[in-house]
Amino acid sequence: MASPARTASRATATASSPPPDPVTGVRTVTTQHLYDATGSEARTITMRLVTASGPDSQCETSHSFTLEPCPCPLTVNVALIEDPRDSATDCLPPGDYLAAASTTPSDANTVFVWSLDGTPAPDQHDAAVRAALRAQREWAGTPAAERAEALHEVAARMRARTDELAELMTREGGKPLVENRDEVGWTASAFDFYAELARSAEGRVIPPVESSQLALVLKEPLGLVACIVPWNYPLLLLAWKLAPVLAAGNAALCKPSELTPLSTLALAPCLDHLPAGLVALLAGGGDVGERLVDDERVDGIAFTGSVATGTRIAERAARRIARVNLELGGKDPFIVCADVAAEIEIAARGGAWAAFLNAGQVCTSAERFYVDRAVYDDFLSAFVDHTRGLKVGDPMDPATDVGPMVSAAQRAKVVRQVEAAVAAGAQVLVGGDGAGHARGHYFAPTVVTGAPGETDLLREETFGPVAPIVPVAGLDEAIELANASPYGLGANVYTRDLETAIRCARELRAGTVWINDPLTDNDAGPFGGMKRSGVGRELGQEGLDAFQETKHVHIETKLEVKDWWYPYGGGDAPPHGA
Ligand code: NAD
Repeated sequence: MASPARTASRATATASSPPPDPVTGVRTVTTQHLYDATGSEARTITMRLVTASGPDSQCETSHSFTLEPCPCPLTVNVALIEDPRDSATDCLPPGDYLAAASTTPSDANTVFVWSLDGTPAPDQHDAAVRAALRAQREWAGTPAAERAEALHEVAARMRARTDELAELMTREGGKPLVENRDEVGWTASAFDFYAELARSAEGRVIPPVESSQLALVLKEPLGLVACIVPWNYPLLLLAWKLAPVLAAGNAALCKPSELTPLSTLALAPCLDHLPAGLVALLAGGGDVGERLVDDERVDGIAFTGSVATGTRIAERAARRIARVNLELGGKDPFIVCADVAAEIEIAARGGAWAAFLNAGQVCTSAERFYVDRAVYDDFLSAFVDHTRGLKVGDPMDPATDVGPMVSAAQRAKVVRQVEAAVAAGAQVLVGGDGAGHARGHYFAPTVVTGAPGETDLLREETFGPVAPIVPVAGLDEAIELANASPYGLGANVYTRDLETAIRCARELRAGTVWINDPLTDNDAGPFGGMKRSGVGRELGQEGLDAFQETKHVHIETKLEVKDWWYPYGGGDAPPHGA
C-alpha cells in the first residue's frame, strides 16, 4: 500500500513482561509513547501512584519525573512493580518508581500503577491533530482495496500478539485471561470485517430533475474522529470505532481509559505500518478527552462510557455542532418465560453468564431478572446453585470464572447498591462479599431477591456481578417492567414460543434483543442503545455510516440560461426540487 513519508513521530509501543529484577523485584516494561509529539522539549510528568490494597483501602502518593529531550518517538518506561507494599501500612514505600500503571485489580503479587496526569500537553495534542490532518488527506486518497489490506494487516498482527495482549489486559483490568484472549480475537475480527465492508462501500445514483443531468450521492470520510473509550473492553470498544473510522478514510485520535491505558497503548505495534500520524493514541484522563471534544478540527466524536460523561460530551459537542456517536450505560432486563420450564437449567446458566461475565462489568450485563412465577422457584434454585459453583480468583488462572472488579471505586458502588437494597428489605442468597479474598477488588457473584422496585439495584446501572431476581405474573408485567427504565441498551428473553419471541422483539425498547442466546455480538449487526443508553450505532453497515459524510452532487451537462432565472415575468417554473 501507499505509505507516505513519515514526517511525524510514530505511534509505536512494545509491552512485554520480562522477569522481575532479582534484587528490587521491579519489572520494567518499556513502551514508546504513543502520541505524535515533537519530543524536542523536556517535560515533567506527574504521576499518581495508587496502591489498592483491599476492598476498602487505597493509598495515593504523587510522583514526578522528567522526560529529557529525545528524538521521536518519546519513550516512557512503564514499571510493573512486584508488590513492594509496606505490610504494615499497605502503602507503596517511598521509592523511585520510574513510571506507573493502573492499579492491579487482583490480589496477585503485582501492582500496576500508572497515571500520566495531564498528558499529553496541549502542544502534543496539537502536534497529534496536525499530523492526523496531514495523514488523513493522503489516506482518504488511498484506494479502498489498499486501505483494506492495511486493516487486514492490523488484524493479523493482533492475532499474532494474542498472548501478550491478553496477559497485559488481564493484569491491568482484572478480566479473566480467557475472556481477554476472546477480546483480542473479536477485536481483530472487527478490523477484518470493516476492511471488506469498505471495499464495497456505495453511494448511489439518483434520478436527476432534468434529463441533461446526472445526480449522485457520495459517501466521504468525516475527516478526524476522536475515539474515547472505557476500561471494560479496552481493545474491542476501540476497534468498533477505529476499524470503521479508518475503513471510511478518516484519521483517528484515540483516548484510552485512564484505568487501562497500557492495554490500548500495547496495540501500537499492530498499527505502526499505517501512515504516520493517522492514528494517535493519547493517554490521559478526562481532560485529554475533553480537549479532543472541544477541538474544532475534530469532525466527529465516537464515545463509549458512562451516561454522565456522554451527556457532558454531547453538550460540549453541541456548542460546535460536532457529530457524536454515544454508546452509554444500560440496565438490561432478562426475562424468563413460563414455557421454558423444561429447560430452566439452561436459562439459569445463560442468566448467570449474562450477569457475571467480566464481573458484571459489561454494558449489556443482565442487571434485572424478571421470571414468570410459574418457573420462579426452579429458576432461582438453579441460578443459586450454579452461582455457588463459580470459581472466583486470580484472573491469570485459566480455571477462574470470575476475576476481580477493575477498581476500588467501582466495587464500592456495587457494595453501596447491595447494602441499600438489603436495608430496604432485600435478601442476599449467595455472594455479597469478597469471596474470601482479603485483598483485591473482588466481589463474589451475588444473587439478590426481594429488592424493592425503586431501589438503585433495580433502577440504576450496577456494573458489578449482582443478579437481582424478581418474580412476575406473566409476559405483560415482564415487558412493562423491562421498559420502565431510562435505559434501553440490550434485553434478553428465554422462551420456546415463537409468538412470545416475536412480541418481545417488537415491544422491548432496546437496541439489541437477544432471544435464548445472551450477549452475543455480531460484527454485521448494529450495536447501540435507545433512550439514555446512547445515540447512533456501532458495527454493521450503520457503524461505517457513522463516520461518513453524505454529499449530493448535481451535474448539468448543458450550459444554458435557465427559464426560471431573472428576470421574472415569463418562462417556465423551476423543475421540482430546484
Ligand atoms: P467514563 O464515562 O468514566 O469514561 C469513559 C472515557 O471517557 C474514559 O476514557 C475517560 O477518561 C473519558 N472521559 C472522562 N471525562 C471526559 C470528558 N469530560 N470529556 C471526554 N472524555 C472524558 O466510563 P468508564 O467508567 O470508563 O466506563 C464504564 C461505563 O461505560 C459504564 O457506564 C458502561 O455502561 C459504559 N459502557 C457502555 C458500552 C456501550 O457500548 N454502550 C460499552 C462499555 C461500557
